[in-house]
Amino acid sequence: MFDLIAIHLFNFIAGLVFGGILGSFVTMLAYRLPRGKKLDTPRSSCPHCNKIIAWRDLIPIYSYIELKGRCRNCHKPFGIRYLKTELCSALVVGFTLLFYGFTSKTLALVVIFEILLTLGLILSDKGGIKSAPAKKKPAAKEGEDGDESGEDAGDDGAEEEKG
Ligand SMILES: [Zn+2]
Repeated sequence: MFDLIAIHLFNFIAGLVFGGILGSFVTMLAYRLPRGKKLDTPRSSCPHCNKIIAWRDLIPIYSYIELKGRCRNCHKPFGIRYLKTELCSALVVGFTLLFYGFTSKTLALVVIFEILLTLGLILSDKGGIKSAPAKKKPAAKEGEDGDESGEDAGDDGAEEEKG
């Protein structure tokens, strides 16, 4: 009995950690993909002062709380969007692993969720991208109000990059 609880607890915590990292990656993808930026280099920098963000400040959720969502260098805020996305991803992956363990079903669900989360973030800040084509008003509205859990994560900080 205890072993079973320990295994589930381990799966849940592993899911939280992995989900947080994925959430951080998704935020980076959603920022860079629509802007045609390279995905590998350069490393993430502060949108305000352009200082490269140190590895110790890229720990999902923890770094955000430690720095109160601000740049260590210029102290300007990054936007709550990062924390929301990382938390959302951490919880979804955590609970998926808790219920299904390390299975192909978990892998499929997590991949689908992260793709939807990325698309949701991209759609939610479409209005903020200058190169985007003229937006259709009803479609944009629908995207913002959609019930996909990831889509409410992008109501502010759309112009910023971290993670
Ligand atoms: Zn800064």
